[in-house]
Amino acid sequence: MGFESFLGNPAAVLTLRDLLRREALSGSFLFSGPDGVGKKSLAFMLAKALNCERLHGDFCGNCSHCVKTEEMLLRAREDLARRREMKDATRRVEGLIYFDVQFIEPITRFILIEQIRQLRSAAYARAFEFQRRVFILNQAQTVHWQAVDLLLKVMEEPPEGATLVLICPNAYELRPTLRSRCRRIQFRPVEDGVIRQVLQNQKRIQAAQLDLATRWAAGSIAAAIEFDLASFQASRQPWIDFIGALAGKDWRSASAGEWKALFDATKALAENRERLEERLKTGYTLLSDLVQIIETGDTARVVNVDLLPRLRQWADRLGLDGVERLKHGLDEAYRLQTRNVNLQLGWEALALDSA
Ligand SMILES: [Zn+2]
Repeated sequence: MGFESFLGNPAAVLTLRDLLRREALSGSFLFSGPDGVGKKSLAFMLAKALNCERLHGDFCGNCSHCVKTEEMLLRAREDLARRREMKDATRRVEGLIYFDVQFIEPITRFILIEQIRQLRSAAYARAFEFQRRVFILNQAQTVHWQAVDLLLKVMEEPPEGATLVLICPNAYELRPTLRSRCRRIQFRPVEDGVIRQVLQNQKRIQAAQLDLATRWAAGSIAAAIEFDLASFQASRQPWIDFIGALAGKDWRSASAGEWKALFDATKALAENRERLEERLKTGYTLLSDLVQIIETGDTARVVNVDLLPRLRQWADRLGLDGVERLKHGLDEAYRLQTRNVNLQLGWEALALDSA
């Protein structure tokens, strides 16, 4: 237990531990950086360290305060999940629960003004059980515009003994007024060596697939932990078939009929709408692998390392303009997906452009 157990981003951990030792953690912090690198986990650890009964500048995980903090965070998350399910907008924000350590996330697309009002009254009230109160606002960029001024007031006159942690992927998505009030802790993608170690410790992935899983995770510990080889391969196979078919023919002079046959093959890509996002991401990854091979010949950052010989062959046959058109088709598919239109339509762009 303790900060030792946090993986990656040593600079962020070091800064926080230093501030903890100097008891300089009042006010507002901004944790920004990519998804899946531990921003939330480190905020939770910080909440424990601020109140741990046994350790100074760290947390034990076992004392009554550490255990209670864990409970508060869990109950807040359960409460938010329950509210998200509610159809009635007024009931959704009725009787919001608040603890000394409070986790706040959007209930709708936004963190609502009622949530920030509750934060304010809890922040200026006396702590119930702990010395220090911690308010963690996840996806802080979603704070509703009506609530921004209210939150700003709390940040301008920080309540004694309270720490606010705003979490968001991109610091520049946050209102500048809020951003400028925070001390910023920047998170970075986790090094491949650490990701590999996480995967090895899990013992789920065979040694031969470790490179593939590590590169797919792209610096995200969460993505590494969730990586499922069978599901990844299932979402990749239609792409292998599609790109393989395209590379196997003289696509520059393909007839309308040939294009149609090819588009029909992409139906498999759109069959399961729930996993469409994942499938499109898989497609993009394959294309970016091809671009790297064509442009630099360097394979150090290729994700689909298990397909290298095939990727080289496709790269030769498609060339940069072939990959460019595929990307155009993918962009179109992505755009149509967000508008809920049949994915297959997107690929028409491929044939139209070559006509
Ligand atoms: Zn403790």
